[in-house]
Amino acid sequence: MRKEIEQIRHFYIHVPFCLSKCGYCSFYSKEPEAGEIDNYCRTLIKEIAYYRTNKKLALESIYFGGGTPSLLSKTQIESILNELTFDSACEVTIEANPGDVNPALADVWLQAGINRISIGLQSMQPEELRILGRRHGVEENYAAVNTLRESGFTNISFDLIYGLPQQSLADVKYSLEEYMKLSPEHLSTYCLSLADDCRLAYLKKQLPDDETESEMYYMIRQVLQQNGWQQYELSSFSRNNRHSVHNSAYWQSREYVGCGPSASGYISGIRYQNSANLNLWREQVLSGRFMPNNEEIDETLREKEYIILALRTTQGFKSADFKKEFKIDFREKYSEKLVKFQNLKLLELADGYIRLTPEGYFISNEVLSEFV
Ligand code: SF4
Repeated sequence: MRKEIEQIRHFYIHVPFCLSKCGYCSFYSKEPEAGEIDNYCRTLIKEIAYYRTNKKLALESIYFGGGTPSLLSKTQIESILNELTFDSACEVTIEANPGDVNPALADVWLQAGINRISIGLQSMQPEELRILGRRHGVEENYAAVNTLRESGFTNISFDLIYGLPQQSLADVKYSLEEYMKLSPEHLSTYCLSLADDCRLAYLKKQLPDDETESEMYYMIRQVLQQNGWQQYELSSFSRNNRHSVHNSAYWQSREYVGCGPSASGYISGIRYQNSANLNLWREQVLSGRFMPNNEEIDETLREKEYIILALRTTQGFKSADFKKEFKIDFREKYSEKLVKFQNLKLLELADGYIRLTPEGYFISNEVLSEFV
């Protein structure tokens, strides 16, 4: 086991409640019953207190993911954030459903220290939002963003889902262009995939083929670049370097605390996984079982994860940094794969960095899987 590392700089909080289930969703979430969110908050505070007391935290990012964190009330948000010490330089993100945003809630978020909103717009086409089973319409998308801007938020990320059944390139482009008019700082893109257990699984065969999805992906990239955006990860784009500090920590293999049902964490070389069930998670916390279902990330696994995560970033990683980290010469150890993918023009070695080429982005899984 690696020795206790210095300080943990990133904190994830999972809020497992949704008022309805989107048709494509396979995440753990549930409709809150009366008093259930309050009860969850009480347990969460106990879990946070454990990590605050037993680990050295120096937070650079806090992330409320879900589920639907925008369902939390003023008192609930405040009681959670009161448990953590952070200053205004810390990136504090909350994922929000456009239908939940209103001036009073936006003000609560600002006062509580939240300075970044990740808003699940998903699309600017009413019919697409309907198919996806989102509980907001296009008008709520525009209104939510305007409310956030008027309230003073200067760091807003939008989600865009593409690759819907029967969706055309022009449909995706329309949503993207409407997004551009609202000038977000960040954009996360997702190609729709339908797992067998989601409500829309029966539409699986109607999803666009790989070629169409790839065209959509490269079109999005091109439109964003033409508008002065920077791609910094396979699915993530930003303006003026407003990269996500929190997500970047994952791609840099940084350690982080994860709290809440189904959250995972990575501390002192150990990865753990909380139960993806509200009641089991509560029992786990109340009986003092922290960092459950854990696995030691040994050097072999750590090396593989480092490569796979770092290659998701457009910068890639420095072979000198890799050597410093693992005492291994990447170019020697992986020379065969390197040559193979360089010849296929999917990987490149430039300025001491190893990275995917843009041609490799959409088929990154094929390249990355060879390093597993
Ligand atoms: S809001 Fe997110 S977590 Fe909730 S049902 Fe929709 S996709 Fe799933």
